[in-house]
Amino acid sequence: MGWSRQYSPGPVHLIRLRTGDDLLEAITRYAKEHHINAATLEYLGAVRRAAVRYYDQDAKAYRDFTIDEHLEVLAGVGNVSLLDGEPFVHTHMALGDSEGRAYGGHVNVGTEVWAIEVRMQELVGDEPPVREFDDCTGLTLWGGTLDGEA
Ligand code: ZN
Repeated sequence: MGWSRQYSPGPVHLIRLRTGDDLLEAITRYAKEHHINAATLEYLGAVRRAAVRYYDQDAKAYRDFTIDEHLEVLAGVGNVSLLDGEPFVHTHMALGDSEGRAYGGHVNVGTEVWAIEVRMQELVGDEPPVREFDDCTGLTLWGGTLDGEA
């Protein structure tokens, strides 16, 4: 068994980002300004360029790449939890090009918004999820290294 904790649904925030916003920074800024430490989120729309990452599980390192064209955001998903005491947004998105081909990855700073609509669902509970380093994956994950791993 991994890590788990129970939450109740809180307020839902509908957020329209501005053209030219950095996708990851804008969502992170919203969470910080509204003191949201626990949430799930989804979004759709379009970007003018995408900066995404792929995590190489063998090397335990991210490989960054950019797709420098106008793309549909077919689906964006993510969550908000605490990292080093601050709201931290973790999000992945699937992108479609003019031919309908799909790309995607872990969203990095550098993704430029054309038009994005976000639905952020706050989660209410005793303590927000906290990200800590996990030896097994090399990532910062909820609950950090679990007993019996690494
Ligand atoms: Zn990720």
